Amino acid sequence: MSDQNKKLEAYRQKRDFRRTTEPKESKPASKKPIFVVQKHDASTLHYDFRLEIDGVLKSWAVPKGPSLHTKDSRLALPTEDHPIEYANFEGTIPEGEYGAGTVMIWDKGTYRNLRADKEDESLTMPASYDAGKIEVWLEGEKLKGGFALIRTGAGDDVRWLLIKMDDDQADGRHNLTDTEPESVESGRSLQEIKAE
Ligand code: MN
Repeated sequence: MSDQNKKLEAYRQKRDFRRTTEPKESKPASKKPIFVVQKHDASTLHYDFRLEIDGVLKSWAVPKGPSLHTKDSRLALPTEDHPIEYANFEGTIPEGEYGAGTVMIWDKGTYRNLRADKEDESLTMPASYDAGKIEVWLEGEKLKGGFALIRTGAGDDVRWLLIKMDDDQADGRHNLTDTEPESVESGRSLQEIKAE
C-alpha cells in the first residue's frame, strides 16, 4: 500500500463510496501546494481548513471559520487526512453518510511555506506539521497573507489555533465569513447547493 493510501485509511473507512460522490483517490498534481476552506453545513456548521502537505490534504475543522483579525485565535480541531481532489468537492453528502450535509468551496488557492523562507529555520511543511507550528502565506480569493496554525495541549486535548499573522493583509474591521458567505467555485449559497 502506498504511503498516501495508508494516510487516507481513516478517510476511506468512514465513507461508503457507492453512496457518496466524495473523491476516493489522492493525486498531487499542482506545482504550488494548494489550500481549501470548505464551509460544511453538517450537524453543526463549521469550516474545514485543508492544506496540501505530502500528497494529502491535512485537515482541521474550524467552528467559527478563519478571520483576518490578528486578535482572533480560531479553534481548529484536527480531522482525518483528505485526498487532494477533495479541494474540488462541492455538493451534498447523503443522509446517513459520514459528514452528511452540504459542502461549499468557500475559498481556495495556493500557499507558500513561510518558515522555509527563514534562513535559520529551514523547515519543510511536514516538519512544521510535526512540530505543531505552521506558518503559511495564503493566496486565495478571500484569504490572503500569513496565517499560523499552532498546536497546543497534548493527548486527547490536542487542539490547534488558526491565527492571522500581522501583515498588510490583516484586517480587523470586516468579518469575512459574514461579508463573503458564497462559494468561490460557483457563486452559490449553501441553500442553492443544497437545493440541487
Ligand atoms: Mn467537515
